[in-house]
Amino acid sequence: MDRNTKKIVIAVDGFSSCGKSTMAKDLAKAIGYIYIDSGAMYRAVTLLALRRNLFLPDGQVDTEKLRTILPNIRITFTLNSEGRPETCLNGENVEKEIRGLEVSSHVSRIAALDFVRSELVRQQQLMGQEKGIIMDGRDIGTCVFPNAELKIFVVASAEIRAQRRYDELTAKGEKVQYEDILNNVQERDRIDTTRAVSPLRKADDAIELDNSHLTPEEQKEWLMEQFNRVIASL
Ligand code: C5P
Repeated sequence: MDRNTKKIVIAVDGFSSCGKSTMAKDLAKAIGYIYIDSGAMYRAVTLLALRRNLFLPDGQVDTEKLRTILPNIRITFTLNSEGRPETCLNGENVEKEIRGLEVSSHVSRIAALDFVRSELVRQQQLMGQEKGIIMDGRDIGTCVFPNAELKIFVVASAEIRAQRRYDELTAKGEKVQYEDILNNVQERDRIDTTRAVSPLRKADDAIELDNSHLTPEEQKEWLMEQFNRVIASL
């Protein structure tokens, strides 16, 4: 088969704030693949649940109502003027809203619901049918695409991830405390790795990438090597 026509599925999983999306987006651009941010899909469902007041006062979710509206939720991605993907919920661009604090602090409850996961995983698998796709998340190599030709599991210490996030936010002029960010990173790790449905774990055949001490350039080079190695082996 011609090298250019060989398309594979690339699964990128890992802890929050370890640079998965930036890395997956950059690689997608370099090799002309579609990039899908699966976390954005959980965030979009969370936004809809917030808008419909489906979070009960005790923090639980009104699962019965969510179950009835879920089949009508359509999540798509559109490219902005800089070529970056933005998330649409039933045709409305919600990219900015889904990154806000309110969605961030409710998303793990939604992501822990089995019926939400099975619907989103179904949609994600449809997106990958034609291959030529990079998807990042927590369960891509384990549940969504267990047969992905290339699986990367990204790790970095909680302290380094918190420091990166702190630098990012302070550069935007936000006043934040490093300790609060570190606590948030550790709490998200705890929830993601201990939830009953599809907890975050490295697939047996995933390659681990510890990017704690890698420059973005070194990381790009490493990724490209992995991609070329898999393509050459097909
Ligand atoms: O990747 P991001 O942090 O935007 O994802 C938001 C949340 O969605 C995560 O905290 C995680 O709990 C959940 N998620 C998930 N499975 C995925 C992607 C994200 O459970 N494949």
